[in-house]
Amino acid sequence: MIMINENFNALKGNYLFFETGKRVSDYRKMNPGARIIRLGIGDVTEPLSQSIIDGLKEAVMEMGVRETFQGYPPSEGYDFLRNIISETEYKARGIDISPDEIFISTGAKEDTANIQELFSKDIKIAIPDPVYPVYADSNIMAGRDKIVYLPCTSENDFLPDLPEEIPDLIYLCFPNNPTGRAINHDGLKKWVDYARQKKAVILFDAAYEAYIRGEGIPHSIFEIEGAFEVAVEFRSLSKSAGFTGTRCSYTVIPDKLKVPDKSSEFHSLKDLWLRRQSTKSNGVAYIIQKGAYRYFTEQGRSENRRIVDYYLENAATIGRGISTLGLKYSGAVNSPYVWCNVPEGLTSWQFFDELLNQCNIVGTPGSGFGSCGEGYFRLTGFGERKDINEAVERLVKFK
Ligand code: PLP
Repeated sequence: MIMINENFNALKGNYLFFETGKRVSDYRKMNPGARIIRLGIGDVTEPLSQSIIDGLKEAVMEMGVRETFQGYPPSEGYDFLRNIISETEYKARGIDISPDEIFISTGAKEDTANIQELFSKDIKIAIPDPVYPVYADSNIMAGRDKIVYLPCTSENDFLPDLPEEIPDLIYLCFPNNPTGRAINHDGLKKWVDYARQKKAVILFDAAYEAYIRGEGIPHSIFEIEGAFEVAVEFRSLSKSAGFTGTRCSYTVIPDKLKVPDKSSEFHSLKDLWLRRQSTKSNGVAYIIQKGAYRYFTEQGRSENRRIVDYYLENAATIGRGISTLGLKYSGAVNSPYVWCNVPEGLTSWQFFDELLNQCNIVGTPGSGFGSCGEGYFRLTGFGERKDINEAVERLVKFK
């Protein structure tokens, strides 16, 4: 008899974005003239930069000529892209990551969701709370139920404490979505040392690496001594180069990362990932990889740095607006996210409703990212400057 994978029954509904959307559309029906400003989106708003457009166009033309036409791409990515990432993102920063340790993909969402397939079903997982929901959901779909949540609240300055219950697999994301918190070298070293001591693996989601501007904040986990043996890193062009709709990312798995099977025989995680990807994916389109290549050129970098700076300035403006309400926040530096406390006496959802009703501003209730997100609220710097400025003017009037 055909039956579903019952692990899906253990998932919580996609409540957060459904419910925020519903409340906004109900409000619109009642207030048709209201000009609502969305500060809740986790999607970029600025168009692709010129060099990327040029790279994409050039590749489209190549695809129309017999001599330069490309069929299936290599499932691990084209060498031209892996080479420039290795050079500009790693070797130029003194990190010895070679092109064959870099795997091109369509998104960090896909890769952070799929990587769990390489590990035993019985492992114990540590996941921060609040968190990007993909890490937990992908493990629940695979039937894992041993999940240790790591609270990240103002009490620990949004930096998770090392767990007493020892996990096998640890998800970390810095700069963090939703808390906007970045981690410094010593903070990340503590985790790398812990993983080495406990024989665990760290999955490091660096999707917001391009937002780091502060000194002493590692751009890659591989800046930390000893990380090559215990960490995988996920990077994305979504928020750094406006690729949320174009889709390109990469995952770095060092040669030195080996994980044992039941009989204590060690296996290269990189080889397992290659095997998994070549079985389940036919890679990322040539045209997209050619566009992505341009991001890593000098011109592409400077164009996109300006765009990221624009989002950072937006976030800083929102942060100033939040301060005028007497609310504390984290993020807004080294991150496009502003994670603020809600006013005393209100829940995250009540603040959502108040902000919508009083100011016509939409944010995201923190409780939607995990139980430790209750009492917090996420606003984002993605948006047009004039909307951000207007939103802040409205915020000041919040009672
Ligand atoms: N990781 C985090 C922490 C994110 O916030 C996001 C997107 O919001 C992603 C990964 C997804 O990245 P991509 O667009 O490359 O799939």
